[in-house]
Amino acid sequence: MAPSRLARPVAVRVARHFVYAIIQFLLMTLADLAGIVPSATAQSLGNSDPTYQALRNLTLGQESVSVNNVDLKRDAATFHLRSGTVCFVAPAAGKVTGAVFTGEGTLVLSAPPTERSMLKLLTKEDEFSETFSQMALRFTDSTYDDLKKAGTAASGNCDAGPLKESQRTTRHDLKNNLEARILQDVLNSEPGGLFMAFIRGRRYNDKELLAIDPNIGGEQVQFITYSESKSGIWASFPLSDARSRDQAGTRVSIDHQQLDTKIESNAELTGRATTTFVSRFNGTRVVPFDLFPTLRVQSVTADGASLPFIQEDKNEDADFAVILPKALAAGQLYTLTTTYGGKDAVKNEGNGNYYPVSRMNWFPNNSGVEFGEFSSYDMTFHIPKGMKMVATGELVSESNDGGHNITVWKSEAPQTVAGFNFGKFKLQEAKLANPQYLVQSFANQDPPSWVQSLKQAASGDDLPTDGLHTGAAVALGTMNTTLLNKKALAEGELAIQLYTEYFGPPLFKHLQITQQSACNFGQAWPGLVWIPICYYFDTTVRHQLGLDLADRGYWTVVTPHEVAHQWWGHTVGFSSYRDQWMSEGFSDMSASLYLTVADKNPQRYVDFWNDERSLLIDRNAQGFRAIDAGPVTMGYRLSNSRTGSTSRGGSSIPKVHTYCTCYA
Ligand SMILES: [Zn+2]
Repeated sequence: MAPSRLARPVAVRVARHFVYAIIQFLLMTLADLAGIVPSATAQSLGNSDPTYQALRNLTLGQESVSVNNVDLKRDAATFHLRSGTVCFVAPAAGKVTGAVFTGEGTLVLSAPPTERSMLKLLTKEDEFSETFSQMALRFTDSTYDDLKKAGTAASGNCDAGPLKESQRTTRHDLKNNLEARILQDVLNSEPGGLFMAFIRGRRYNDKELLAIDPNIGGEQVQFITYSESKSGIWASFPLSDARSRDQAGTRVSIDHQQLDTKIESNAELTGRATTTFVSRFNGTRVVPFDLFPTLRVQSVTADGASLPFIQEDKNEDADFAVILPKALAAGQLYTLTTTYGGKDAVKNEGNGNYYPVSRMNWFPNNSGVEFGEFSSYDMTFHIPKGMKMVATGELVSESNDGGHNITVWKSEAPQTVAGFNFGKFKLQEAKLANPQYLVQSFANQDPPSWVQSLKQAASGDDLPTDGLHTGAAVALGTMNTTLLNKKALAEGELAIQLYTEYFGPPLFKHLQITQQSACNFGQAWPGLVWIPICYYFDTTVRHQLGLDLADRGYWTVVTPHEVAHQWWGHTVGFSSYRDQWMSEGFSDMSASLYLTVADKNPQRYVDFWNDERSLLIDRNAQGFRAIDAGPVTMGYRLSNSRTGSTSRGGSSIPKVHTYCTCYA
């Protein structure tokens, strides 16, 4: 486990909506895909809705039109169909949701000025213009009517290949359930606005996708390529029409979550979530949720009745969605209960160490809201006896029952997200008077198995033969993490007091600092932070693990940086990746303030900012400088195959602290 733990990719994102799924796919192609074994999981209660099944098994129908010099304009994209045939798919619930074009066509993309420089960089031309002879379209907007009106009835047959390929792509590669998305609009009582073109481009790439989806917040228009060798986001921007933009965004916002979660000693999780949400628009009938793919839904109920739901195979397009008995009006509240369970959302790392793999979607969370939505939470956790649970919110009660430790938690204030960490923890705590605040620090009593194996390797018992740190002699330093627990606590106390003085009180009245078995990143949730286990090692051990990073001061500021996210990220949220740089930037700025009081040597503060500067202007192994990659508002998009900044180069990875060593 050691190599994967040490080399855990920093930029792991969660598939939430189509564009988010695309991002996930793009990142997946950069990661190690080995070990994903397809399996056919039967869903006895899910996926049975007849309209959904009709969409899932969609083929070309009988209807086709000939087109000559037809322009199809969709936001910034203009398709010119010079000549050819359009064959439509068979209707589902009376609606035609797709077509295949064969002939001669061009696509011109007039992206807004903010995206033009990126496009120009990629195409080396002033105007983005692609030519194609085949394309599959999926839509719930007026495309069927528009093309029928513009063309003349024909009897030609079309090759169904592009349609089949688009179905294969969304299911197996992008892992996004396009049929579930289309079902949202087909069953909605209001007209839909989805438009997707899978283009076999001739000039740039034969796997191009133009996607327009009004049901997501932020940026509804994207142009991407998704071939194995060349995948990336070429352009991403909001709908250009202001009225359409007003109607865009997630269909619901979640008001309250009541989560009852049980985790067994083998880390298997079972949950029961009672979710109350409000419909943001008229006509909402299908509600998508973000749920970790291996957590399999057993049932969804509302008002005592079972509701149909969708969740495909865990290794494919496993997006979870619920079909309501009837459409909701704008502002209408609705409550449903989901039961689910499975492995891999949490991992047992040995010796009382558990790793929460899923951070945002271990329960049915809203899909595609980043940190821009605030909800309240009531949570109950059942974990193996002897383990200690640490979660977001205030601890209401703790008891033991039948071999389980049971804790109840309640959010002190609406939260952007909810999460937990648990293990065989030792606790150190301090009560602050000004501000009135409880700071707690939790470290594991024993190291996880991967650290144990390093220790054994050092003593010559059992040399691991794979990975970067084969046989590293790490027995010299101490690996007892509880010794540094006091240090983490002291850093947390000082940071809370200092930041309160500078920025005012945060939303939450307590902070729990916890050790996690991942080595090289930290993360912050409301009232809960995860600190990488390697922070708790002494400098000798870190040196032997090749994790010095000391010259960049990472280990000195990881705790104050994560604590600062209580203000930047969770008191002030962000609804788009475009704004995440502020959350990271303010947290880094806060950490530098921390250095001025924690360390009497003023040089530390100067060193910190010198390090930040060199991270921007030093060249990486590919010769790129972070400062040249693009504006900070491009966020994670700055790391791509062009800048080489996603290569696994360890400390040579340039970062602009938009998408840094922590997610929030
Ligand atoms: Zn951060």
